[in-house]
Amino acid sequence: MEICIVGGGIIGLATAWYLQRDGHAVSLVESRDAVGLGASHANGGQLSYRHVAPLADPALFTGYPHWLLGRDAAVRLRPRLDPGQWRWLAAFLRACNRRDHAASISALTLLSRYSRQQVGALAGDPAFDFGWRRNGKLVVYRDRHAFAAACRGLARSESEGAPRQVLDGRGCRDIEPALARVAPQLVGGIFTPDEEVGDCLALCQAFEHGLRAHPAPARVLLSETAHSIEASGGRFRALRTDRRRIEADACVIASGVHAADLLRPLGVRLPLYPLKGYSISPAIVQAGGVPAVSVTDQRRRIVYARIGNRLRVAGMADIVGYDASAPAGRIATLARETRDWFGAAVDLADLRPWAGLRPATPGGTPIVGDSTIDGLWLNVGHGALGFTLAAGCAGLLAARMAGRGAPVPDAAFAPGGAAALRDGEASRGDCGGRGAARAALR
Ligand SMILES: Cc1cc2nc3c(=O)[nH]c(=O)nc-3n(C[C@H](O)[C@H](O)[C@H](O)COP(=O)(O)OP(=O)(O)OC[C@H]3O[C@@H](n4cnc5c(N)ncnc54)[C@H](O)[C@@H]3O)c2cc1C
Repeated sequence: MEICIVGGGIIGLATAWYLQRDGHAVSLVESRDAVGLGASHANGGQLSYRHVAPLADPALFTGYPHWLLGRDAAVRLRPRLDPGQWRWLAAFLRACNRRDHAASISALTLLSRYSRQQVGALAGDPAFDFGWRRNGKLVVYRDRHAFAAACRGLARSESEGAPRQVLDGRGCRDIEPALARVAPQLVGGIFTPDEEVGDCLALCQAFEHGLRAHPAPARVLLSETAHSIEASGGRFRALRTDRRRIEADACVIASGVHAADLLRPLGVRLPLYPLKGYSISPAIVQAGGVPAVSVTDQRRRIVYARIGNRLRVAGMADIVGYDASAPAGRIATLARETRDWFGAAVDLADLRPWAGLRPATPGGTPIVGDSTIDGLWLNVGHGALGFTLAAGCAGLLAARMAGRGAPVPDAAFAPGGAAALRDGEASRGDCGGRGAARAALR
């Protein structure tokens, strides 16, 4: 088939690469002048297969009030005159219940397990040099209640075979000596040795290289913006960009947080809203003074990970609209925390501040599958897990487009499934089939 893909972030590139490997002729359209410059650019670098809990957590307001309160709150809401924001928030609040939270975790765990296999195959291929390491992930706690709650939650994940180690403050320092400075503040930590890290931008570039180097090279169309989709008789016909009309048998929308704009004129409504986050990437000046494992500060929802010769410090989730600037106050918080934790081990004069818009669904599950229009497919809404899930979602979508069986249970990711806005048109019970998807997305 001839397939066009909109979006040159990690999701669009992975999708294009999997489809090309399946023998399709692929064109990828990206509005920026290089790939990986959206949310995929300087993210936390975590391949976090076992930490998939969505933000829509019933304990958000009771268990973790520190995430929402104070000048340095990890989650910040700025209400806007935007019905899209209100609808998303209403759906988010409805998703903050135990049943939905547990269902999302189960579905995401299976998907991330499949993604881990796919990433493992890529990491073993010399063409994919993206700083991949299985370095383990240590989540550290400064709050007794939060630590106790996390330990209670471990029982379930252990029954799923997750190797976890529960540590006191000293144990955290033993696993990661670079935490010596903050160890006295830590009440404990949970270490998962088989979590991984990598450079998402480098993986984007490796996919792009693979697409171009293939014997049947993909057309990678940079600095070109898709502005409309032609459909007639319930079928996709062509993609119109600011430069050309691309006729194809199928089209995949993987344009991150902007996907909804492209689909709205067709009556396809996606429950996406940006969860804005930030990172800094100071240069490492004392290798022994920064963590070798990935460290998550649960109190601030900040992750620290070595990416090459820099320390990536990423976090926060601001529900403030589509402005992609990085406010000085948020960057200063990341810099201050980094200084408090790792002192002079990094060069804070060279921060490389960055902001990215996570394309988030209310319940935290991505939308992967067919739309209401034949030949028009979706791979969007990966929120805080896009790097982790990209390979798995690309493999899943390629299998669905080829008519092969889904490699993982995918009802929760169907467009009318758990991710859809639950405004009375769709419910979890509807999520199985294309008919439901049609009902949900109109
Ligand atoms: C601070 C932060 C930390 C994060 N940390 C992690 C982490 O540690 N692990 C993890 O798994 N995930 C993490 N994420 C999430 C992850 O980065 C995202 O889920 C992922 O990058 C989304 O990829 P995407 O391809 O859907 O979107 P994007 O990377 O934004 O790509 C979409 C692309 O589509 C293009 N586009 C949009 N509209 C059009 C159009 N009309 N025509 C042509 N092109 C268009 C854009 O220019 C963009 O390049 C983090 C995110 C943030 C913000």
